[in-house]
Amino acid sequence: MKKIALSLFTIITLIILAACTPSKKADIVTTMFPQYDFARHIVGDKMSVSLLIPPGAEVHSYEVTSRDLVAIQSSKLFIFTSLDIDQWIKDPAAIAGPDTVVMNLSEHYHPTEHDHDHELSSSALEDDDHDHDIYLHYWVDPLIAIQLIDAILDQIIAIDPQHETEYRANALAYQTSIDELHASFDAYMQDGHLDKTIYFAGHNALSLFGERYHLNIVSLFEGFKPDADLTSSELILFANQVRQANTNILYIEELVQPKAALQIQSELLRSNYQLTLKVLHGYHNITKQEMEDRVTYSDLFSNNIEAIMWALNQS
Ligand SMILES: [Zn+2]
Repeated sequence: MKKIALSLFTIITLIILAACTPSKKADIVTTMFPQYDFARHIVGDKMSVSLLIPPGAEVHSYEVTSRDLVAIQSSKLFIFTSLDIDQWIKDPAAIAGPDTVVMNLSEHYHPTEHDHDHELSSSALEDDDHDHDIYLHYWVDPLIAIQLIDAILDQIIAIDPQHETEYRANALAYQTSIDELHASFDAYMQDGHLDKTIYFAGHNALSLFGERYHLNIVSLFEGFKPDADLTSSELILFANQVRQANTNILYIEELVQPKAALQIQSELLRSNYQLTLKVLHGYHNITKQEMEDRVTYSDLFSNNIEAIMWALNQS
């Protein structure tokens, strides 16, 4: 009797523990928000999708957990961003289970496909290093996002051909919503807003987005990965650049405390120059609250468009 009571206690403890630390096991396991969002739109309620990097966490410096590895090994499809972003993946084939299809999403798009109106600027394509760096955040270009949805759709159909019709319809509906946003923003930009400049107090995550729409995004941090080491003279230089451009909007990254932007804001306020901070989202990750509200890539794209138009309409 005592033995039964003890094991019952153990079981209850395990259940409580399991409830406190939710499993990341799912049919489809993803490392980052964009592919999580694309996959869940395609499958609807037919398959489960999980996101390894928790809401709110920094993507570039993420360390994998043993629970993540278990989830990857038991998944049917594992979608990661790239070896440059998910640096904890040394050998993609070795981390998967025997029945897991591994998808390196960065190998599933063509940079200029769908781009009928304007090619990427020649300077971007001439410089190999720049070319490589700018594509580190390849998902920020909505036309690339549409290609990624196609690639993920193909893999999902291969795993579960039974629901192909539904998956295709879901993918098309989501692609259409992104494409409509793209078309209307593109038309807005072509209508007298090309080659305007905005200032971004973050790392260089959105330059591909800028190239797509002929929008010049001047980033405070030269690098393509977050870097907090700025001297005060660099900050003042950037603040002066913002003032000379006569703009009242400074864009900031999602999720991070905008330390540098607040310093620039207060530096300019000393001479009565008002600066409003607005988020320009790089889609790296979303907050816990946004996750609960089921915020999508398309929502974030729409918010970005609104934030940019707010500035350009004033200039
Ligand atoms: Zn980044």
